[in-house]
Amino acid sequence: MPINFEQKEIWFITGSQLLYGDETIREVNRHSSFIVDGLNQSGILPLKIVYQGTVLSATEISEKFRTANKSSTCAGIIVWMHTFSPAKMWIGGLKSLQKPLLHLHTQFQREIPWREIDMDYMNLNQSAHGDREFGYMTSRMRKARKVVAGYWENIDVRERIAVWMRVCFAWEDAQKMKILRFGDNMNNVAVTDGDKIEAELKFGYHIDYCPVGDLAEIVDTVTEQEINHLVEEYESLYTFSAEAGKSGTKHQQVREAARIEIALRRILKQKEASAFTTNFDALHGLNQLPGLASQRLMNEGYGFGAEGDWKTAALVRTMKVMSSGLSGGTSFLEDYVYHFKGEGAVLQAHMLEICPSIAAQKPRLEVHPLGIGGKADPARLVFTAHEGYGVAVTVVDMGNRFRMILNEADCVLPEADLPKLPVARAFWIPRPNLTVSAEAWILAGGTHHTSFSFALTPEYFDDYAEIADMELLKIGNATTTEMFKKELRFNEVYYLLNRAVQS
Ligand code: MN
Repeated sequence: MPINFEQKEIWFITGSQLLYGDETIREVNRHSSFIVDGLNQSGILPLKIVYQGTVLSATEISEKFRTANKSSTCAGIIVWMHTFSPAKMWIGGLKSLQKPLLHLHTQFQREIPWREIDMDYMNLNQSAHGDREFGYMTSRMRKARKVVAGYWENIDVRERIAVWMRVCFAWEDAQKMKILRFGDNMNNVAVTDGDKIEAELKFGYHIDYCPVGDLAEIVDTVTEQEINHLVEEYESLYTFSAEAGKSGTKHQQVREAARIEIALRRILKQKEASAFTTNFDALHGLNQLPGLASQRLMNEGYGFGAEGDWKTAALVRTMKVMSSGLSGGTSFLEDYVYHFKGEGAVLQAHMLEICPSIAAQKPRLEVHPLGIGGKADPARLVFTAHEGYGVAVTVVDMGNRFRMILNEADCVLPEADLPKLPVARAFWIPRPNLTVSAEAWILAGGTHHTSFSFALTPEYFDDYAEIADMELLKIGNATTTEMFKKELRFNEVYYLLNRAVQS
């Protein structure tokens, strides 16, 4: 499922009213078009903004929002009150609105023209109170939205709009996302499981199972020539270990990995899936755990979760979409081993399945025994993640709601080479430090699996949680265990009451 931002657009609607007369409205339209053109030409925004005109009455507003709801290209709406737009006029439209909303609180002119300003100027440039009137109604109606305040030419304003746009696009992607599961969740594991019906209601994505036997049947149809082509591609991208190379003792295992990758691609395409899960315990008919294939498919934007973890598979896909075109990389990861030296750090890894988009150097293709699953030695890409800031995110099912948990972290290089560790890894210092991070994460019930990205910031998840209407807990420099425990208790009450109000 390719990620193409050109498929969607954002609508820009300016609010006003009939009171001002035609000339003022023409001026409002000119200014709005000028702002929209400026935003589009900034080179910062991933989606195109389409100006939809100035709305002057309740009828016009309701009609405009109905059209937006029906549009297959509109991924979200930006509204701005250049003049005063009495907000009772917005009730009908807002009631029906199904698209994400951003309220841009800006003004056409940056500065007050001290010597020229008169009452005509005041009446035209009055978003300072027009936008407050609109803000009251959206708050009164408890409408989810992002409010971005600031001058529209400022970079920070544009960057905050860009973040929201990427989230809108990822939200649209989730509404048609299909997650294919080869095998169920790993037996007895709790945190990676959850309510798949509630997840579809909440996030839009659909979870299907696919018998591993169906994949195995396709594996049998892959030709030697197809495998030759793919192994050539591996050779152009990765450094082979001696054993994995053409004359090596384990080269046949690389060819088997290629065979599985070709089959996996075929079945994902057939089923129109953009994410998938595997389980090392459900590999009937496969020669080895699809490690290399999972790594390479993630690198192309597929969501992935190990051991049947469909929530993480969906989150990896969503974060791949949000970060498409940005640098840094995004991967499935797992908390593995602690380093209790100094402030403390965590070694992140998995059995095999880490995305090479986060690699610091050219990955090495190696073949080693797996130890569990009772299959042949799987091929995998081995590398260390590069340094830098990133966010680790997870979603857990709390029984009455989904909870998203985010931890900011700084990846650093390990203190030495890891010659005996035959898997890809990342090594990070979680913010504010390992103690508070681990205490907060565990108190929140966070998983050992995460989706990690060097390209995203907490703001993306603020916007996502707002659109999805879900709980978000953030762990960062300002976190203390004491305040975090209170937040957990406050949220427990908030979500119980919120549900009572809605039902
Ligand atoms: Mn795992």
